[in-house]
Amino acid sequence: MTLRLIEGGRGSSDAPGLLVHGAAQVATMAGGIRRGADQGDAAVLDAAAAGGMASPDAPVVACWDGRVVGVGPRDEVERGLEASGFSLSRFARIDADGGLVTPGLVDPHTHLLFAGTREGELVLRQQGAGYLDILAAGGGILSTVAATRAASEEQLAAHGRRWLDEMCAHGVTTVEAKSGYGLDLATELRLLEVAFQLGREGPLDVVPTWLGMHAVPAEFRARPDGSDAYVRHLVDEQLPGVAAQGRARSADAFCEQGVFTPDQCRRVLDAAAGYGMAIRIHADELAPSGGAELAAELGARSADHLHSPSEAGIAALAAAAASDSPVVATLLPATSWYLMEHEPAPARRFIDAGVPVALGTDFNPGTSPTPSLPLVVSLACIGMRLSPAEALAAVTINAAQAVGMGEEVGSLEPGKAADLVIWRAASIEQLPYWAGADLAEVVIKRGRVVHRRGG
Ligand SMILES: [Zn+2]
Repeated sequence: MTLRLIEGGRGSSDAPGLLVHGAAQVATMAGGIRRGADQGDAAVLDAAAAGGMASPDAPVVACWDGRVVGVGPRDEVERGLEASGFSLSRFARIDADGGLVTPGLVDPHTHLLFAGTREGELVLRQQGAGYLDILAAGGGILSTVAATRAASEEQLAAHGRRWLDEMCAHGVTTVEAKSGYGLDLATELRLLEVAFQLGREGPLDVVPTWLGMHAVPAEFRARPDGSDAYVRHLVDEQLPGVAAQGRARSADAFCEQGVFTPDQCRRVLDAAAGYGMAIRIHADELAPSGGAELAAELGARSADHLHSPSEAGIAALAAAAASDSPVVATLLPATSWYLMEHEPAPARRFIDAGVPVALGTDFNPGTSPTPSLPLVVSLACIGMRLSPAEALAAVTINAAQAVGMGEEVGSLEPGKAADLVIWRAASIEQLPYWAGADLAEVVIKRGRVVHRRGG
């Protein structure tokens, strides 16, 4: 069948349809959450295998009114659209020009909103100071808390827009955003409200998470029972206020030796689940602390960091992995890199155990000030030995699952949000290969071009 080339829609901003063609590869990530050997299956449609990019069988992605309506061989997709009553003339065309097309990336772990910067800590760490040394000296999270409490809603929103723009330019279309630099009800509510409003403003989806249990704030540290008193404050005051506000979809807690114990985390997270919130845990970042075990016990959506899980913790996540809603291991290699740790999280052990793995930036002012999820993909391939396809699953479908949006984003399948990226790279393998390069050529969110490289 001869393909009729339709150029009429090009550049027309009111055409509700979009047809992306000319891709060397389309990594659809279709087929749901990835675990075990499937983590490396990117469900790729390859133009060369279909007879070349000019072939009527070359892969295309068709979008209508913000949704994917067709993915597959060009001829087949176009005939399918016409048979369903779509007029092909209403589809604007975008030529991927031999690039790779993937779903829009999902960053499942960020501390998007804060005030102030902490570049001085990089030098302290070069001199040998550890994370908990800096925290004990009143630096770390607590210095950011002081600056964030003093920041207005407008200042926080301006900061959020700046960094969401940057994430978008790196191919990210959905961002989880934690509170946790307020540690009092008023500031936590302000952070969650700003995160929610940034998502409403668009173009990126922003998924707010309450992380009141990030650290014990200074006003409680002065008390002999400070840590337990803060836990009571979280359960009795912060959480009811956060639940009444209704912006946070999940509750998160920092389960770590020297921060909060598993028992303390269980009290707060159980209470949050009672309000209908999903659970996430900062687990075993610095030392085996029972975080992975607690995530499995509570049926958390995500256990994050997992740099230093115990054997029992790995076994607990493996046991939970076969269920319909497994705990996603959300690994954050930029943080380990930035903290000058030589051993990465045991990503291969999780994959071998069938635990679905996601990757996030952990964007924050102290331990991972990078907004670049593609850089994290490179770090994961180099440091953790993930294959490029495994890493891509970790920042698309598995990351979407980790933030509770697996039915909406993270893969290119009919019915899902038309979130996709055209990369200036010819294959999945080239994504981690050009480490640190600016590869996102065109970023499309809900069927609309929201970023063009250099544009
Ligand atoms: Zn974090």
